[in-house]
Amino acid sequence: MSRIVSSNIGYPRIGAQREWKKLLESFWAGKLPEEQFLSGLETLRLAHLKVQQEKGVGLIPVGDFSLYDHMLDTATMFGLVPKRFAYDGGPVPLATYYAMARGTQGAPACEMTKWFNTNYHYIVPELNGLTPALTVNKPLEAYREAKRKLGIDGKPVLIGPYTFLKLSKGYAPEQLDALIELFLPLYKQMLTELEQEGATWVQIDEPILVTSLSETDMERIADIYSQLHAAAPGLKLMLQTYFDSVEHYERTVALPVQGIGLDFVHGAERNIAALRTHRFPADKALGVGLIDGRNVWLADLEAKLQLLDEVSALVASGTLIVQPSCSLLHVPVTTRTEEQANAELLPFLAFADEKLDEVVLLSKVAAGERTDAVRSGLEASARLVRELNDSPFRNRVTVRTATRHIAGGPSARQSSYSVRHILQQNKFQLPLLPTTTIGSFPQTPEVRQARKRWRTGEWNEAQYRAFIQEQIQAWIKIQEELGLDVLVHGEFERTDMVEFFGEKLDGFLFTRNGWVQSYGSRCVKPPVIYGDVEFVQPMTVEETVYAQSLTSKPVKGMLTGPVTILNWSFVRDDISREQVSYQIALALRQEVEALESAGIGMIQIDEPALREGLPLKQQDWQHYLDWSVHAFRLTSAAVKDTTQIHTHMCYCEFHDIIDAIRALDADVISIETSRSHGELMQSFDEHTYDQGIGLGVYDIHSPRVPAVDEMVRTIERALSVLEPELFWINPDCGLKTRGVDETVASLRNMVAAAEQFRARC
Ligand code: GLN
Ligand code: ZN
Repeated sequence: MSRIVSSNIGYPRIGAQREWKKLLESFWAGKLPEEQFLSGLETLRLAHLKVQQEKGVGLIPVGDFSLYDHMLDTATMFGLVPKRFAYDGGPVPLATYYAMARGTQGAPACEMTKWFNTNYHYIVPELNGLTPALTVNKPLEAYREAKRKLGIDGKPVLIGPYTFLKLSKGYAPEQLDALIELFLPLYKQMLTELEQEGATWVQIDEPILVTSLSETDMERIADIYSQLHAAAPGLKLMLQTYFDSVEHYERTVALPVQGIGLDFVHGAERNIAALRTHRFPADKALGVGLIDGRNVWLADLEAKLQLLDEVSALVASGTLIVQPSCSLLHVPVTTRTEEQANAELLPFLAFADEKLDEVVLLSKVAAGERTDAVRSGLEASARLVRELNDSPFRNRVTVRTATRHIAGGPSARQSSYSVRHILQQNKFQLPLLPTTTIGSFPQTPEVRQARKRWRTGEWNEAQYRAFIQEQIQAWIKIQEELGLDVLVHGEFERTDMVEFFGEKLDGFLFTRNGWVQSYGSRCVKPPVIYGDVEFVQPMTVEETVYAQSLTSKPVKGMLTGPVTILNWSFVRDDISREQVSYQIALALRQEVEALESAGIGMIQIDEPALREGLPLKQQDWQHYLDWSVHAFRLTSAAVKDTTQIHTHMCYCEFHDIIDAIRALDADVISIETSRSHGELMQSFDEHTYDQGIGLGVYDIHSPRVPAVDEMVRTIERALSVLEPELFWINPDCGLKTRGVDETVASLRNMVAAAEQFRARC
């Protein structure tokens, strides 16, 4: 019989009311002195620990709190400050830390990128020949603080050396072994000091173990952990993985550590299969990641207990640690703040705090505890799960039947691209290198103010509509004056490209405080897809048709694609993501049809998040790409040959998914070209992509107005080996974050650049 312990892997740092964000931003704005800022953070940090303590979590993580990002914490702890920030050793000053995160006048910020397949972005450490040194033992400080202030014997959390190095940049692959030698003494010192301080468990995160690693990688990891173990033999090292199954199960569980944490939610099947085949070593504790740390639904505790039983039977003896599947950083803090907004659906949701209740309850049941509280907790869970699964909103017959019919049905345009291209060209009569934009125009304070007035009831529907129409009218005029060839209505009625559609479709829920950290102090509030998704009424037709009525130039309708809506939402987990994407596709297809019948001849379906949904393991890519392409085609393929389908993807690595991009069969795809200096075009060139491509010739992320010459050069580079017939000219993304003047000036130069180039052809 195993010993059962409950544990947490990481707690959200933002606070239930986003207190953390507010502290950071007032400090940056100079409104909060450093001392008050730091004490504010301490209060928050201790409050978070206290919540976990009061819930009865057995192993409470410490050191997972951050002033911005945990990778940046680790880099600065090792004194890895790039030269441009003028640092000369010792603990990294707060100003330098934030300069690295946010940049200063003279020194651009460090690069930021996605943390595995989540929407959390970390700061990429730059090694570039820097010599690491332990400037402060952050986990030790966190351990001491929790012990002294709250009597918590915490579990210090650190990012493992292999994951840290693999995610860093500024070194060549052949330098990796030498780098490991440089970092190992620092990790050893941290662990030795923690051991001396009396820490019991230490959590070392190595999520890199769920990605495709080679034999050499695994040898290096084995060597690292035998050295770390030897340095602090009295510590219990919990090697924590998450987000998928471990790639080399046997070698991972054989590592000389005292515990292995596995994800039993994402990649659960593979982890269990491995466990079944190879068992689990008797001398180690198994961290069972049972509760989904990346979604917002209450858990089916009965099913979880069954899984735990199954796992337990495969573990010879030792300790089972019941925990979330990953850090709770990726879910909102608590459903308590939703009480007023979402009373009906509230019981079915579980955010970080509620998930910890589930962890604790599961561990109690597994340990054989059968008090009244435990029993009623289990009963309530079973009742709610049943209620949710049987709810009418999860079982809409119309949607189910339609999805079944359509999912297997035809999803191809009537004719091939080459035929459509001619028909469309005859219809639209566009010049060579037609110019257009990606959809949104500046969301000025005036636009935001108007929306606020309408939302708070100060303006009625008619007033708000009239305002939106004025904006559309003004911008149609501007676009005509600029000489753009294909116009857009400007998206003034939308705050956000997913929220706008979610609010109009059935099956979406918007939380009041369901914030999660995206990067730094920036938080996002993803919509929650709770039920079957259904089209209610046209969502974009009125504005698009109004815009078209003002001009003889074609106006492009503007929709967010099914895969992007899916990937930027919390999604129900009782049916597959594939099925949900088809439901969204069906609903959007109705919108596409409505636009077409209202006379709109071009429709853009944005899919900027298609690539980010790629699974962590290459072997799972094809399946994902197959269904996401299918969802896009379900949305777009029903139109006439003469209707032109556009799509847009911002910046995206295309080289390894070009077949899927081609399979979308869009008539035009607009992509970034300026920042990558036309490099992106290579993937299209090599693979002979021969449908329309919109060149994003200027970077909209900066207020800078690009010169005509500069854009001409970008066009030249991109078209050096390709015929210009298939190309369009546009900015690299929507313009909603830009100011009016710079937008008009930039577009004017863009049109001039296209004209210059045309004149030469
Ligand atoms: N049509 C959207 C816009 O212009 C596209 C945004 C995006 O790609 N992220 O804002
Ligand atoms: Zn974009």
